[in-house]
Amino acid sequence: MNAIEGSCWPLDRMSAQRRDAAFLGALREAASTRFLLLVGDRFAIVSNEARDFARLRLLSRAQLRGFALDARDALFLGCNPQSGTGLFALALKEHEVDEPLAGLLQPLVDLRSIAARGAMPADEVAAASTAKSLAAWHQTVRCCGRCGAATRSEEGGWKRTCRACGQPAFPRLDPVAIMLVHDGERCVLAREPRFPERMYSTIAGFIEPGEDLEQAVRRETREEIGLDVARVTYLATQPWPFPHSFMIGCLAEAVAAPLALDPLEIDDARWFARSEVALMLRGDHPEGLWLPGRHAIAHTLVRHWAESRD
Ligand SMILES: [Zn+2]
Repeated sequence: MNAIEGSCWPLDRMSAQRRDAAFLGALREAASTRFLLLVGDRFAIVSNEARDFARLRLLSRAQLRGFALDARDALFLGCNPQSGTGLFALALKEHEVDEPLAGLLQPLVDLRSIAARGAMPADEVAAASTAKSLAAWHQTVRCCGRCGAATRSEEGGWKRTCRACGQPAFPRLDPVAIMLVHDGERCVLAREPRFPERMYSTIAGFIEPGEDLEQAVRRETREEIGLDVARVTYLATQPWPFPHSFMIGCLAEAVAAPLALDPLEIDDARWFARSEVALMLRGDHPEGLWLPGRHAIAHTLVRHWAESRD
């Protein structure tokens, strides 16, 4: 189902071209252009029976026409600069998918399960993640936040403008500090009420207006588990499109003390020795405690700490 004329991978976001309506219009109608379909919260994929291999199912403009799908508000995800093949996303509601189309779009899977399996190439997961975040944002800005009039999508879906007062709106990201709190030899892992049974993870919280990253790490650590943090070290970031968080991963060196948990946010939290964390990473913990998978930045933070001697 991928483009015959050329693949859209690797994808360049081509953000400078988003304002060029003629370019985008021509690309959207090109025979080689491909569309990924987001139905509700799920993506159409091509996969094998074991689901250890998965690609996004991409449709051509002609196929969209065949199903009478309107591509005018398709979200521009980018272009392969070598082949010129463009990629757009089309977000549909479940009730907009008739039976013949539903047949073509099997299987439909959610992004978490795609990412968790590690079966899809990273650039395709990133494109799906962008599409999901953008589509969720469009759902929340149909009306102007200033005057309440209807807004219209522009720049390939990267901007909405109020039809009455002209107020612009841009895709939203919510920055989140996520930190592995440790004292050198032990780290704190916690359970939130919504977690699956026996899963423990790092703590996290939204960064508030007026805070820098370090201040947010210190405040959240104090609020959630009652510890003071000395040194904060930045490690990595990860977009987390549920629906539009941006995770900023840190190691937080805590002043060792008894934990004092926030009962609203945390079900349980404890200090774990490095050796115990190694068992969790291997899936060998005697109590069956486990960690988020490799797709999650929490896993990256824990693994980095467990395998280093910092
Ligand atoms: Zn307005």
